Amino acid sequence: MSPDPLTGVVAEVRDPEIDVGLGDLGVVRSVSRAGGRIVVRLAPTRLSCPARGEIARRVRSALAGAAPGQGVEIVWERGAWEPSSVTAAGRDALRTAGYRVAGAAPRCPYCGSDDVVGAGRFGGAVCKVPFDCRGCGSPFDVIGTAGCSAVLSVPDVAQGGS
Ligand SMILES: [Zn+2]
Repeated sequence: MSPDPLTGVVAEVRDPEIDVGLGDLGVVRSVSRAGGRIVVRLAPTRLSCPARGEIARRVRSALAGAAPGQGVEIVWERGAWEPSSVTAAGRDALRTAGYRVAGAAPRCPYCGSDDVVGAGRFGGAVCKVPFDCRGCGSPFDVIGTAGCSAVLSVPDVAQGGS
């Protein structure tokens, strides 16, 4: 069974918080037809939790353009999203946006340097971990820590330093 052509339409919908397509984020599980409607199954990242409403709105809007007049049902699957579903492009966009991505060191959102070090202080929010960039000296927060996201199964970058 080949994927529904509308899968590509949904995959191209941009995440409202990160400038990356839902397909690259690994959010799109399937697009199918049932009972004359388009059924879109999405796996919510915890990252995108607060943005679900906006994601749904964008998906509906994109489908309204690609398949006018057809009903759309959006199904959020529970616990289906895996960080490993994120494509290389998606990981890159996440890192650039300051998210912590499994298997990748945090990246400075200001200069793009990977040469960053944990700052050892508490961040401004539960979900944020402070880092300092050794490339440009900017402090920044990396989003994603205990209770925040599955993206978290990442080894810490080396603490301390020179
Ligand atoms: Zn920097």
